[in-house]
Amino acid sequence: MTGSAEGGPPDGAGPTDTDWAAAVAAVRGLPATARVLLICHVNPDGDALGSMLGFGLGLRRLGVRQLQATFPGPPEVPEPFRWLPGSDLLVAQDDAYPDPDLVICFDAASESRLGDLVDRLDKAGTALVLDHHASNTGFGAIQLVDPHAAATSVVALGLLDRLGVTLDADIAAGLYVALSTDTGSFRFEATTPAVHEMAARLLATGIRPGEISRKIFDTRPFGAVRLFGEVVGRARLEPAAAAGRGLVWTYATREDLARHDQPAYVLEALIDSVRCTAEADVSCVVKQSGDAEWAVSLRSKGAVDVSRVAMALGGGGHRFAAGFTGRGTVDEVVERIRAKLPGALLPA
Ligand code: AMP
Ligand code: MN
Ligand code: MN
Repeated sequence: MTGSAEGGPPDGAGPTDTDWAAAVAAVRGLPATARVLLICHVNPDGDALGSMLGFGLGLRRLGVRQLQATFPGPPEVPEPFRWLPGSDLLVAQDDAYPDPDLVICFDAASESRLGDLVDRLDKAGTALVLDHHASNTGFGAIQLVDPHAAATSVVALGLLDRLGVTLDADIAAGLYVALSTDTGSFRFEATTPAVHEMAARLLATGIRPGEISRKIFDTRPFGAVRLFGEVVGRARLEPAAAAGRGLVWTYATREDLARHDQPAYVLEALIDSVRCTAEADVSCVVKQSGDAEWAVSLRSKGAVDVSRVAMALGGGGHRFAAGFTGRGTVDEVVERIRAKLPGALLPA
């Protein structure tokens, strides 16, 4: 799992002082002419984009002039994140430096989450990885991977602090979006005192939490509201699944999106409308991403380690929030999940 080029911490321990020092040296040692490329995982969420752009603005404050940020796939940023400060750093993946002096990777648990950008890890002078997935596969020369961090932005702020960057509202906006996304607006188990302390530091820069939450969580087109109605309406409850802990699931096709004239990102919030089901520990949304390809979101309320299910099916994630790419029909994908659930039960 995690472990740095220097030998690294024991599994799950987070970055060592040596790891932090290597990361600081990688940034501080950059010549004035250095090209730095920031990358994050495919279908970027609030943590991927917010950590990357917030950190990018910090690098800019340090004087890094040749700086780009990108992500795999089409260069469209989901509407809720288009306002993020630092968006001017974004370029399409094909326009990103082919051989940067330093590449910094955000919120990706494995190289498979980097699509066509994976080659930059080898072509860059140095590859620095910032992440918080327990399932992180341990790629990149310098690894700042903290499975106890609530979001990658916790790690990003840790590095900005060590680099001596002073927080400002633009940097804080991205880091706050990241933190509030991955903690479900400070509701999930990962919401420790340290998370609230970090949020307090970010809010002290003057950013507006109500405005930010409305933009990233509480605004969607009317077509999406109607689409959700249909897709939630076809949810199935299987009380006997997961050894009686229960499974609730639904799916959405590209045809569903087209019928309501909606972009794919609107489906990211769908899991939240399903996982509230009291009768099921595990919830699942199967979102069509290709002809016979599906992006699967899994959530658990605590009885099942869904990252084990996801990893067994080629994906990854966290204990209570994970995902994978499924192939075949919806029924085949759900059957594979169903079969893995009993083996992923956590001790009571
Ligand atoms: P999501 O359901 O897309 O919000 O993802 C929940 C968690 O699972 C996140 O931490 C993702 O990084 C992880 N995840 C989702 N899809 C994949 C995948 N295909 N491979 C690896 N990890 C994934
Ligand atoms: Mn993410
Ligand atoms: Mn994350």
